[in-house]
Amino acid sequence: MPELPEVETVRRQLDRRLSGATIEQIHLFWDGRVFPRTRFRSLIEGKTITAIERRAKLLIWRFSDRTALIAHLKMTGNFLFVDRPGKREKHDHVLFSLTKRGKTLFLVWSDVRKFGFLKSVSSAELERTVGQYGPEPLETGVEDLAACFLAPKTRKLKAALLDQSCIAGVGNIYADEACHRAGIRPTRRLATLSQRERLRLATEIRSVLSESLEQKGTSANDYVDTQGERGGFLDLLRVYGRAGEPCRTCAASIKRIVLGGRGTHLCPRCQT
Ligand SMILES: [Zn+2]
Repeated sequence: MPELPEVETVRRQLDRRLSGATIEQIHLFWDGRVFPRTRFRSLIEGKTITAIERRAKLLIWRFSDRTALIAHLKMTGNFLFVDRPGKREKHDHVLFSLTKRGKTLFLVWSDVRKFGFLKSVSSAELERTVGQYGPEPLETGVEDLAACFLAPKTRKLKAALLDQSCIAGVGNIYADEACHRAGIRPTRRLATLSQRERLRLATEIRSVLSESLEQKGTSANDYVDTQGERGGFLDLLRVYGRAGEPCRTCAASIKRIVLGGRGTHLCPRCQT
């Protein structure tokens, strides 16, 4: 699933091209994951985009009338710019036709797994939605971020990292990577972490996310950006998806365990 670096990469690309654009027309090929289903088109058509923002893994298209469109890529949701609308591919669900400074832009929303969604929201609904998330790691100081890992004391570190209301935008890949960089096992209960470990973890979360963002994210599975390009961080991962391969720090074999139903990767020697 795309996490903060991948969603932020998409946000930057969308913002560059869509800020100031007007949505002229929407073709709905499949309306199973657009909300509200029957009024989606009429609510969105004619709106002018003022900015594309991001909160956690959510993309927010802000409109000039203070309403918004929120988009969640989930597993395989994808926005792709096309020169002109061609033949509809099987998993294309929505085609946006937009104009900006007299030029027409076409953007396709597709989603193979169909977990992603698009939702038209009022400004009040938007506030409620974004209010559910914890701090943004790249916009929060290390000490405040470290405080995310104080409670509940019996909770395992990996579960805290994946909880979007605890810390926003981190998913399975960067949770495992941050734990390895910090030398902490994801199985540890929060109560066992020292303040020094919490600070180290907060620092490593920020660095792994920003390093990945510089590479336009990780394409571990299907993720591609709005030009169809893959992210460049895959080869720089230290543990995620590397079970049985040597740890890049100590050469011990990387282990994969299942923790809270999620595949979790760690180095049994570097992480304590
Ligand atoms: Zn190691």
